[in-house]
Amino acid sequence: MVELAGVHKSFGALHVLKGIDLRVRQGEVTVVLGPSGSGKSTLLRVINHLEKIERGTVTVDGELLGYRRSGDRLYELPERDILRQRAGIGFVFQNFNLFPHLTVSQNIAEAPLSAQRRPRAEVAELTARLLDRVGLADKAAAYPRTLSGGQQQRVAIARALALEPKVVLFDEPTSALDPELVGEVLEVMKDLARSGTTMIVVTHELGFAREVADTVVFMDEGRIVERGPAAQVLDAPRHERTRAFIGKVL
Ligand code: ATP
Ligand code: MG
Repeated sequence: MVELAGVHKSFGALHVLKGIDLRVRQGEVTVVLGPSGSGKSTLLRVINHLEKIERGTVTVDGELLGYRRSGDRLYELPERDILRQRAGIGFVFQNFNLFPHLTVSQNIAEAPLSAQRRPRAEVAELTARLLDRVGLADKAAAYPRTLSGGQQQRVAIARALALEPKVVLFDEPTSALDPELVGEVLEVMKDLARSGTTMIVVTHELGFAREVADTVVFMDEGRIVERGPAAQVLDAPRHERTRAFIGKVL
């Protein structure tokens, strides 16, 4: 479903991703762990083509992201094709990033209406279904600022699902929340995982990882230093750095 091969990314002289190979199969949940600055957010941004890479390839559903191949050369795709590819990838940010001037249902309906030009009645139905799914059917007409952080993040998840993405990327979706609001967001994410959504989740919530991750990946200094089933990486890490990190987070 999502496949990265030999991905390198630098910001100027700073080499941030140093040859990432990662494969996430359809319906699988991969949790990415790692210390601050190890390149986790950059990795997600690369998968959404928000960052261009210098070497390697990213494919989603067999389609090369951002480029087309001709012989053995890659040519950058026009913006229109990049936007189409990006629409197939949901992204949930740490700080929700809702549109403040739109209501909850308008936030969710925005992309299906403007990017996909789907009929209004159909989008209204979709929006209602998604709000119900994240437990916010009664907040359709509310504005984001009147909601709690946990509710805003659940709206952001509903919005990410509105384009029926092939994969949903989460970048520390609960780390800006008050502790008592974390659970409600994790519950929604667990529900998505159980229903077969392909997900890549950067999080320090090890309980979530243990419960729903098929694979846990540990990154350090731009490399994946350890990967495996959740139980193995979390409970019997092989790499010294993984052990030290998990010891600190717990
Ligand atoms: P955190 O846990 O703190 O979110 P992270 O693992 O997500 O960290 P990244 O945000 O991917 O780390 O950043 C990796 C490195 O790349 C850091 O040194 C960061 O300063 C640098 N970096 C990220 N984005 C940019 C950018 N747009 N320009 C320059 N440097 C950047
Ligand atoms: Mg980050």
